[in-house]
Amino acid sequence: MATERTLALVKPDAVAKNAAGEILAMIQKAGLKVRALKMLRLSQAQARGFYAVHRERPFYDSLVAFMTEGPIIAAVLEGEGAVARYRDLMGATNPANAGPGTIRKLFAQNIERNAVHGSDAVETARTEIAYVFSELEIEP
Ligand code: UDP
Ligand code: MG
Repeated sequence: MATERTLALVKPDAVAKNAAGEILAMIQKAGLKVRALKMLRLSQAQARGFYAVHRERPFYDSLVAFMTEGPIIAAVLEGEGAVARYRDLMGATNPANAGPGTIRKLFAQNIERNAVHGSDAVETARTEIAYVFSELEIEP
């Protein structure tokens, strides 16, 4: 399996409940390396752009409102098969379907307020990382 990079976000719900440290600890205990890390607050336009792929979905406006309600923490993760490994660690989008010990099982409230984001493919990760981080902010 190849070394990959993926974008992880700790969403506003999890930052607000002080869970970011525990979530980052889970990521590091899973063996994924943090290559970039910062806290930021998305504007409406930035959140709409980040989730543009979902713009026709009924939950889009609500998702954008949620993602802009407070700060998020963004990280670039690296490792063998990092995209799928981090998706596994997150658990299913709907926490009702998330497996035991996953981040979403532990910290998500519902299908929208689900604590974390992770890229769904290597190509998506490349786009999302470039959307959130500048080259200077990422450990090469
Ligand atoms: N979402 C939602 N309602 C839905 C599906 C998704 O509010 O029915 C939100 C949720 O926060 C999710 C995000 O939209 O994480 C992006 O959806 P996606 O299907 O890409 O899920 P993910 O890749 O985050 O598991
Ligand atoms: Mg997705």
